[in-house]
Amino acid sequence: MDPITASTFGRRFRGEVVLPGDAGYDAARAVYNVRADLRPAVVARCRGAADVATALRVAADRGLELAVRGGGRHVAGYGSVDGGLVIDLGPADGVHVDPRAGVIRFGPGARNRDLLVEAEPHGLAPVTGVVGHVGAAGLTLGGGIGWLSPRHGFASDNVIALDLISIDGERLRVSADHEPELFWAMRGAGANFGVVTSFEVAAHPVRRTVLGGDLVFAGDKGPDVLRRLRELALTCSTDLYFFALYGLAEPLPGIPAQLHGRLVLTVFAAHLGEPGQAAAELRELRTDPQPDADLIRETGYVDLHLDQDEIYPEIRQYWAAEHVPLSDAAIDVIHDVALAIEDHSVIDLYPWSGAMCAERPGDGAFACRDSGWDVATLAQWTDPARDDAQLAWAERISSGLRATGEVATGVYPNMVSRLGEERLREYFGAARWARLEALKRRFDPANRLHRNANVPPPAA
Ligand SMILES: Cc1cc2nc3c(=O)[nH]c(=O)nc-3n(C[C@H](O)[C@H](O)[C@H](O)COP(=O)(O)OP(=O)(O)OC[C@H]3O[C@@H](n4cnc5c(N)ncnc54)[C@H](O)[C@@H]3O)c2cc1C
Repeated sequence: MDPITASTFGRRFRGEVVLPGDAGYDAARAVYNVRADLRPAVVARCRGAADVATALRVAADRGLELAVRGGGRHVAGYGSVDGGLVIDLGPADGVHVDPRAGVIRFGPGARNRDLLVEAEPHGLAPVTGVVGHVGAAGLTLGGGIGWLSPRHGFASDNVIALDLISIDGERLRVSADHEPELFWAMRGAGANFGVVTSFEVAAHPVRRTVLGGDLVFAGDKGPDVLRRLRELALTCSTDLYFFALYGLAEPLPGIPAQLHGRLVLTVFAAHLGEPGQAAAELRELRTDPQPDADLIRETGYVDLHLDQDEIYPEIRQYWAAEHVPLSDAAIDVIHDVALAIEDHSVIDLYPWSGAMCAERPGDGAFACRDSGWDVATLAQWTDPARDDAQLAWAERISSGLRATGEVATGVYPNMVSRLGEERLREYFGAARWARLEALKRRFDPANRLHRNANVPPPAA
């Protein structure tokens, strides 16, 4: 067979074909996690559904392994592949807001910030993650936690319809009325069954300006702060969301000099309700213990997300996570692991609260709904010589928390580097797994789409 060139994709291909040796190859093959240093045979930068269909055909004709990339943020490096074909959906990043219908339609290359910026003038927002540069596609297909989640659940709970191209090139409209079983699966295990070329999600009213920001506590106050947050997560209104992060303090404005380079627990909080109620509820976060820096202020709802963009550097990454009831024993384990934080590493702690814990009729396959906390160690470093030490540090959280005997079955698959079949089966449970396997057999029997939190087809 001839070597692959741009003409392999034909004259109708509207996107860009990037090959080894091209000036843009290194940029085109890169994903967020620098450790995923993979060298695809070709990157097909697709502008629309027709381009995706062509790229799927080329991969099939050539027997190339596939990777599908939305924002390329999954830390496992699913968005690239050695020697294979990457369907990079980045150029398909259009967003259309229909305020009358309360619906946002977006292309699979759109990032959280694209949706937020387009929805803001209408006083609306979708459920997105808390960081602007993360891809809305992968986030939504696997779950999606953000500031609106206590009110409206996960991003996947807010999907109304999807357009999808199956691995055989069939175009499908997927919603509660069309292919309802596939619609169920796409909302939680959605990277397994086809390539989504368009999303339709609910838009919710949101104040343009909210009270939010960071509270920074010296590291030794961490356990007390976490105990306080544990109570508040159970009792606060669904207008308030917060998450916490252990890390070494950067020398930033507003952070006392004596904390620079020291372990701190930062609580990121935002209240989406009216200002009086917001001030009262946020006060609960600032007492007993008191923060060493209080950076809560009036800020744009969109800015909350853009501010987070700077916290997560594009360097070497390895993430481990567990979903746990935040018992005293769990807090001790987490604090102990935090004391060994080095480099840019952090521990993220997200509570599940309000609508996140309630499974409603019609919800999708997303399975991690136990009330509790998602505890994720995010090892982040630059020197390859430190790979082993960083991986060992990150994995300490799982072994330590599992030893407390209180780990919930769930794990949030969007936030882990290594997720074997056994763990994914445990996460979905037997009944969901059987439904997903049946769909995989129907839509992707050869498991061409396997660079994901993978549901393999059942053995014949
Ligand atoms: C800095 C950072 C912050 C984060 N913050 C949050 C947060 O606040 N809340 C949260 O819930 N999660 C968060 N995450 C995790 C995030 O949900 C996942 O990384 C998610 O996979 C990102 O989606 P993506 O499109 O950028 O990733 P990609 O790596 O491009 O895709 C992830 C998976 O989805 C598949 N996929 C992507 N697009 C499509 C498509 N169109 N059709 C079919 N399959 C597709 C890919 O093949 C891959 O398997 C964060 C991650 C990072 C790196």
